[in-house]
Amino acid sequence: MSNAFSKIRNAVELFKSIDFDQLSEISQKVNLPKLMENFSKLDEKQLSGMMKMLDPNRKNKELPPIDGDFYDVYHALTPEQREVQQKVREFMEKEVKPIVNKYWLKDDFPFELIPKFQKLDICGVTYHGYGCKGMPFLMEGVIAMEMARIDASIATFFGVQSGLAMGSIYICGSEEQKQKWLPQMQKFEKIGAFGLTEPEVGSGAAGGLTVTCKKTEEGWILNGEKKWIGNATFADLVIIWARDIDDGEVKGFIVEKDNSGYSVEKIRGKMALRIVQNGLITLKNCIVTEENRLQNANTFKDTAKVLRMTRAGVAWMATGCARGAYESALDYTRKREQFGKPIASFQMIQGHLVEMLSNLTAMQTMVFRLSEMQDEGTLLDEHASLAKVFCTMRTRDVVSRAREVLGGNGILLEYDVARFVADAEAIYSYEGTKEINSLIVGRSITGFSAFV
Ligand code: FAD
Repeated sequence: MSNAFSKIRNAVELFKSIDFDQLSEISQKVNLPKLMENFSKLDEKQLSGMMKMLDPNRKNKELPPIDGDFYDVYHALTPEQREVQQKVREFMEKEVKPIVNKYWLKDDFPFELIPKFQKLDICGVTYHGYGCKGMPFLMEGVIAMEMARIDASIATFFGVQSGLAMGSIYICGSEEQKQKWLPQMQKFEKIGAFGLTEPEVGSGAAGGLTVTCKKTEEGWILNGEKKWIGNATFADLVIIWARDIDDGEVKGFIVEKDNSGYSVEKIRGKMALRIVQNGLITLKNCIVTEENRLQNANTFKDTAKVLRMTRAGVAWMATGCARGAYESALDYTRKREQFGKPIASFQMIQGHLVEMLSNLTAMQTMVFRLSEMQDEGTLLDEHASLAKVFCTMRTRDVVSRAREVLGGNGILLEYDVARFVADAEAIYSYEGTKEINSLIVGRSITGFSAFV
């Protein structure tokens, strides 16, 4: 009761703050005695709502922080790991965010970022030795998430360098090969790419590669084409996976950009990940020395070891993309007003936001456990595949809801969400489509292979 009384007193105070001229102007438009009479009949809840509406500082009301980590998933990070996470976040917000839409539109790569990546010193963060930090796999995921939260193209560029290219050498290279390449790649002095997919062979790469290799006295001769190869237009080296004509097995090669018989053409007209420079590689009697054949890549099973590691990273990347879209959408809905109120105050908008957050929270908890399994050494192909399928599917849902709550602005690049929507499509397809990763999980849980 005393609460209701103090609210009425506040309302009276508010009226008192209106000066005489304003009051006479108001009295010409409304019946003030009647208004006061009706006002006194309001119950406590109605009064409180009225007070909120009349409050001139209503717009400045302090709102909760925008944070897509609703379950505090990262609480388990050590102070050192948190420092790395924070460093990446700052880099992405300060250096990448301001320029990213310009480059995305131009279908171009921001080479000015390379020296800044060098300073960041996070490449190959989970590898031991060779200038790398030997941190848990979890950190590779956290970095991918933080990058994709701002831009999935930059996260992909980094994933190709640090994961696919360096990872192939780390997992399948000899000690000499690791000593030669990894320290330079860690410092971005050499940029790498990873060539598995071909124009006619994508999902069926395990059994169907058509790029061939043959050992001769001159060295290995490689022939064929590779399509979609990220970073290829400017890479110093590309890991090429080819089938040996003699024993039928898949082997891996470090092909350098000045190798004779090697050429790259940029793939144009992409509607997603436009900053990533994807290339069509032609190998025409390309000669590679035995020194550059990955010494421990002898079957496709070795290629699969690299993919298992990087697929986990792609699940994290999808999560980052969803997080960026959710946080942008939440921010927008709190600022955008319709019918005189922030659209975030409408029930249906809140419904979208909560659906986005539910998906995002499920993804974050899933990838966190995935990385724990990676660090425990229990991660299998099917575990990484399940996370890749789930996270990329859910991300598509999150970004489309983010686009929806932005209305027309949802298709404008300057609001960022449109870029997340487009980029989610590419992440959905690369490193194994939904179908292929589902078949990997399906085989594991049923005991039947349904690939063909
Ligand atoms: P296809 O294999 O032709 O598949 C077409 C459709 O058929 C898909 O829906 C697929 O799921 C379905 N399908 C195929 N087989 C089956 C089956 N058995 N059962 C049910 N459905 C099936 N590759 C690299 O090597 N290096 C890179 O750096 C690289 N970067 C990429 C970047 C981008 C932006 C993109 C889009 C692709 C990149 N890729 C890269 C290639 C990528 O991994 C392939 O696109 C992907 O594996 C799918 O192959 P595909 O496009 O040939 O599709």
